[in-house]
Amino acid sequence: MDDKQFREFGKAAIDFIADYNENLRDRDVLPSVEPGYLSKLIPKTAPEKPESWKQVLEDVEKFIMPGVTHWNSPHFHAYYPTANSYPAIVGEILSAGIGCVGFSWIASPACTELEMVTMDWLGKLLGLPEEFLNSSPGYGGGVIQGSASEAALVGLLAAREISVTRLKRAHPHWDEGMIRSKLIAYTSDQANSSVEKSGRLGAMKMRLLPTDEKCSLRGSTFVQAVKKDIEAGFIPCYVVATLGTTPTCAFDDLKEIGPICKQHNIWLHVDAAYAGAAFVCPEYRYLMSGVEYADSFNFNPHKWLLVNFDCSALWLKDSRNLTEAFNIDRIYLANNKQGAAHDYRHWQIPLGRRFRALKLWFVLRLYGSEGLRRHIRHTVKLAKDFEKLVNSDHRFEMATEAMMGLVCFRLKGGDHLTRQLIDKLMARKKIYVIPGACREKVVIRFVVCSRFSTQDDIDYAWNEICSQASEVLKADPG
Ligand code: PLP
Repeated sequence: MDDKQFREFGKAAIDFIADYNENLRDRDVLPSVEPGYLSKLIPKTAPEKPESWKQVLEDVEKFIMPGVTHWNSPHFHAYYPTANSYPAIVGEILSAGIGCVGFSWIASPACTELEMVTMDWLGKLLGLPEEFLNSSPGYGGGVIQGSASEAALVGLLAAREISVTRLKRAHPHWDEGMIRSKLIAYTSDQANSSVEKSGRLGAMKMRLLPTDEKCSLRGSTFVQAVKKDIEAGFIPCYVVATLGTTPTCAFDDLKEIGPICKQHNIWLHVDAAYAGAAFVCPEYRYLMSGVEYADSFNFNPHKWLLVNFDCSALWLKDSRNLTEAFNIDRIYLANNKQGAAHDYRHWQIPLGRRFRALKLWFVLRLYGSEGLRRHIRHTVKLAKDFEKLVNSDHRFEMATEAMMGLVCFRLKGGDHLTRQLIDKLMARKKIYVIPGACREKVVIRFVVCSRFSTQDDIDYAWNEICSQASEVLKADPG
């Protein structure tokens, strides 16, 4: 493909994306295909001769779109949002177009430096303590990871290495293998699956601690577990506190958990993957009270802050904990600017890294802080409006108070009714909601996900839910 064809192809692709977004509501949010559908439609081997880009783009509509779940449709209310915006899409295009790999400063100085600057902008926008910023006088700093899962694993691995180093220094005769086998991590039984996975990947036993009636992990529960483990010979090492859990958007109590971590040398990682975006609005910052105790703090601009996947923001109070744990040098990686700026390869699992800061920069500049706050407040308002609709219908009950963009509710009566309602909604594909569990009861998780969502979309979803609830209750009047 030459430059001329690239210009035509690229422009056609942009038109395709704009048309797709403009007409998103016309598509069923869930596809109607069965597993294996695609292999029946496209050839078994790659073409021998080059094909035309027009044909390829046509095939996207013909073969790919029927198998797409439309995450950015205003009728998508499942999981948590995946962010999307035109500034971020253009940022992605430029990142691909420039195509540099910024594992060290010299590998592409702008890649590293824009990341340092934008992570500071973002940290200030959230109101994070200054110690987390790249520009702070200490060793704090921010880095873009691919996902909250990676951030939790990176925190765990760093915590593990500093615990081992500290204990070997304090007890030179202790066997390193023995130390490693005794390290233990904690999180709540409401934490995302990725947190438990980080323990498995990092070979550290992880306890899932029970939460209070608001699904929040409290200091009293945590300290009891820590003391019991110390008595049993374990070495508490790492805890992940969640701000905005996946099931109900509950908030763990950092103010209670933090001091226990300090007392017992436990690394405190904050997973605010979804709800962290809300801290751009000062009125929600009370929910991160105690963040000053954290060793690492992570949230996903790629969830609720309009930056396309992947962009997961991780800040560390002392980046040396990572750079010392992860630093493996080779002659081909050495350069004469080492130490003068961040070499982000020491801050992450892979060596290579994309120019992800571009899309973050575009979003921060083209929305402005004001635009980002408007986006968050609009989502929360729509969720509150939906909650009012649930409360106005005697057939339904709320499972918890609506929190951020999430509303957890259920049909009154046995779990089977709510399950049947979800099945009916899934079969019709007009809206997409998924089940959750709250205090042993099945609930519907309804999340305002799309940046295009309006009051009309909320009414559309509610009408769809009500009509299907009537069907369920007609068949099972109780
Ligand atoms: N943590 C929480 C609280 C989440 O809700 C999620 C995903 O929804 C994750 C972590 C995992 O995020 P990622 O896909 O970026 O790893």
